[in-house]
Amino acid sequence: MSELPLEGGCLCGAVRYRIDAPPLWTAYCHCTTCRHSTGAPVTMFVGARTDSVRFTAGERATYASSPGVRRGFCARCGTPLTYESERLAPGETHFYVSTFDEPHALPPAFHVFYRERLEWLDISDSLPRHATTSRRPDDG
Ligand SMILES: [Zn+2]
Ligand SMILES: [Zn+2]
Repeated sequence: MSELPLEGGCLCGAVRYRIDAPPLWTAYCHCTTCRHSTGAPVTMFVGARTDSVRFTAGERATYASSPGVRRGFCARCGTPLTYESERLAPGETHFYVSTFDEPHALPPAFHVFYRERLEWLDISDSLPRHATTSRRPDDG
């Protein structure tokens, strides 16, 4: 894992963040909503404790993609930055790995929402694949 603090931000640099505690987990997400939100066929998250996160420049705009879910992005350049869910992950802020300054140091550990994946996406790793979330298998 990368050295602390972990830092990152959006494409234009208006929004910057800093994480002062080790990440809780890293995972690919194959869910349909993330695909729409990012425009990418799969995304990858780094989970952080919200109390270890500071925004050091700018402020996120947010969009409630489901009840209790906030997706954060830069209102200037549109870069998706964060995901927060009161129901699935209270107290956590999930960052898209590609917004970190050093994403190479944050490899994925598992897949979530694998049942929603694009069938043509060929990922041949041997990481664990969870049909929905890794926490509550029946809570899609
Ligand atoms: Zn920006
Ligand atoms: Zn997702």
